[in-house]
Amino acid sequence: MKFADLGLSDELLQSVLSAGYDTPTAIQAQAIPPVLMMKDIIGIAQTGTGKTASFVLPMIDILAHGRRRAMMPRSLILEPTRELAAQVAENFEKYGKNHDLKMALLIGGVQMGDQVKALNEGVDVLIATPGRLMDLFERGKILLTGCDLLVIDEADRMLDMGFIPDIENICTKLPANRQTLLFSATMPPPIKKLADKFLTNPKYIEV
Ligand code: AMP
Repeated sequence: MKFADLGLSDELLQSVLSAGYDTPTAIQAQAIPPVLMMKDIIGIAQTGTGKTASFVLPMIDILAHGRRRAMMPRSLILEPTRELAAQVAENFEKYGKNHDLKMALLIGGVQMGDQVKALNEGVDVLIATPGRLMDLFERGKILLTGCDLLVIDEADRMLDMGFIPDIENICTKLPANRQTLLFSATMPPPIKKLADKFLTNPKYIEV
């Protein structure tokens, strides 16, 4: 299997090759085609399997066209920690360098002013920890009604950190007909319940 067989655009393939990768990992080979077909997926994969690129790459192609609006991010990636959020942002920078995509990070421990300014300029990809996102939402700084692509990453760590009620709350604020991708290293019952409630006919991928 080659990256060129997965349905990614030629422009994006160039970025992948220039990052030094020519063979997709198992999660990338199995997740990228259905994500490009706008399907929901559950990906059971540990960190280190190439999981991040399995959603970042198809998202870049999906978001390549479309219009940004103030306060209304087009897609949302939820991460349990600031460090993971920052790593996902680095992946977008690495693979998205040939694309005009605006990204914003909403994480705790930094001033809200710059985050609000970024939101007002329009964002294609919002990468957030649940607490800070809810905080800004409750202050009326963000609208999630235009966000039709959601990634819940490291769902089992979200559970360990007590974020499931926040995630449920966030899910109810997004459009019902959206694409949802859920990644987790394990599938404990509360995560299975979350997936049953908020994903539609997901493709289950385990690596
Ligand atoms: P992740 O599981 O997303 O944390 O990725 C783990 C590491 O694998 C990162 O350092 C990536 O740069 C690297 N990586 C991602 N995709 C590939 C690939 N197709 N081939 C080789 N390494 C990769």
